[in-house]
Amino acid sequence: MNIIPLPAFNDNYIWLLRAGTRAAVVDPGDATPVLDYLAAEGLSLDAILITHHHPDHTGGVSALLAQAPVPVFGPAHERIAGIDHPVGEGDVVSLPGLGLEFAVLDLPGHTAGHVGYVGGGALFCGDTLFAAGCGRLFEGTPAQMYASLAKLAALPGDTQVYCTHEYTLSNLAFAAAVEPANPAIAERIEACKAQRAADRPTVPFPLAGELLTNPFLRSHEAAVVRQAEAQVGRGLTTPVEVFAAIREWKNRF
Ligand code: ZN
Ligand code: FE
Repeated sequence: MNIIPLPAFNDNYIWLLRAGTRAAVVDPGDATPVLDYLAAEGLSLDAILITHHHPDHTGGVSALLAQAPVPVFGPAHERIAGIDHPVGEGDVVSLPGLGLEFAVLDLPGHTAGHVGYVGGGALFCGDTLFAAGCGRLFEGTPAQMYASLAKLAALPGDTQVYCTHEYTLSNLAFAAAVEPANPAIAERIEACKAQRAADRPTVPFPLAGELLTNPFLRSHEAAVVRQAEAQVGRGLTTPVEVFAAIREWKNRF
């Protein structure tokens, strides 16, 4: 699969999938970089995939549809203008022009109806899982987000994660505060600093590395539990409570 990052706004990536002369885009918050790329490369747009309703993920849909009336796949449980293929857990998104298929996952937490798309070794997870971080809980509960992240953590470790924001270095600074003695976090900070210094995206990244460095996937680790308890000043008994305390701390970090 040939997947291109199209930078948008301050720190968004619009992911463009291409095969032959056909393309699809995930979370086009802005139409301009997509239309520019399609024109420069002589590609035609086959489909749009949306993970959730926030404007930085949906803002370009109407302008893209004005150029080409393509199918728009997106969460069945959110109201988003332009979606004509509402999808949810268990559905399959078929892009025959690109020879691709994606299974849809429900990932509530950041928003109530957030979905992800997984196929061909790639995961498009919007604002649910970030490199060394996770999305803010705007609409969902900690228990919902914890379950959504657990669902992603169970995917094969070599899955490449295509999230929508370049938040990696600030997320890793927080991860290092949660686990100062975790050498995998220190190593990842050095590697990502080098990538950013060379003006390269830190996304995608393999899921396996998240299990070692992402505090939001490590609520069961003793060191993470201790730090979460220190933050809230009391004992925490479940991984969801630990996750909630860490997420709350990150909001203030
Ligand atoms: Zn969002
Ligand atoms: Fe976003």
